[in-house]
Amino acid sequence: MSKTVLITGATSGIGLATARAFAQMSWRLILTGRRQERLKQIQNELQATGSSVHVASYDVRSEEACQKLILELPAEWGTIDLLINNAGLARGFDPIHEGDSKAWNEMIDTNIKGLIYMTKYVSQGMVKRQSGQIINVCSTAGHEVYPNGNVYCATKHAVDALTKSMRLDLYKHGIRVGQVSPAHVEETEFALVRFSGDQSRAKIYEDFNPLKSSDVAEAIVYMATRPAHVNVQDILLMGTQQASSNHLDRSGRKYDG
Ligand code: NDP
Repeated sequence: MSKTVLITGATSGIGLATARAFAQMSWRLILTGRRQERLKQIQNELQATGSSVHVASYDVRSEEACQKLILELPAEWGTIDLLINNAGLARGFDPIHEGDSKAWNEMIDTNIKGLIYMTKYVSQGMVKRQSGQIINVCSTAGHEVYPNGNVYCATKHAVDALTKSMRLDLYKHGIRVGQVSPAHVEETEFALVRFSGDQSRAKIYEDFNPLKSSDVAEAIVYMATRPAHVNVQDILLMGTQQASSNHLDRSGRKYDG
């Protein structure tokens, strides 16, 4: 029987690339996000290539919605082997004294609370079965900070702490917990969301090659396909033109073509 993966935030970027990568390996996919139309399109695309796909549109900021999703899964989708907590966002890029509390709350509610709600309800089944895996999409912003990154960096530091402490709670139940921590990633809507749809401000990848969403998907696939006795705890990855959150070689895109 094929394994089942639940990916939050599968409507674009890293989540969508990861869904496509798992589909290629014939995993069964539960794909979530808020944009229902996108989920339908992705379901059609992947089903056309032979994949089994269940989609659910809801907001991870609602604990009730997260619980309802898991409680109401059709019986054949009830056994989740792998949870990928990917849904998340940065909103705004301001120094702390000019920050917007609505943006702060959106990041805290999505990146931290959404992740813990999903983990609680999915891990309950894993504990019962004494097996499973959870991969959180953290960030280099969960390991270091950068100017104007304040609250986003704080949420990703929280993801790092949650990954470590969830592992302490769950490893005795045969559940592997790890995270992937990418630096800048293109082929995502991350920058567009951060700058609230401002296309010109979102053009942040024109003078260097960042990672691609498929690079992060490959790292996640690597973690998920290790033998059962191996748990990859963290994969920290950056484009070659990036050495830290604050060190970027912006002398041009050196690796195109
Ligand atoms: P995208 O904006 O392309 O994808 C974000 C995904 O999260 C979308 O599918 C979106 O779906 C979903 N999402 C956002 N808010 C909610 C919500 N409240 N409820 C349900 N789903 C939600 O960006 P990325 O692919 O880049 O982001 C994925 C993860 O990667 C995030 O956690 C991000 O912090 C992290 N990351 C990104 C980096 C980058 O440079 N791109 C670098 C390091 C980490 P929808 O809008 O349909 O709800």
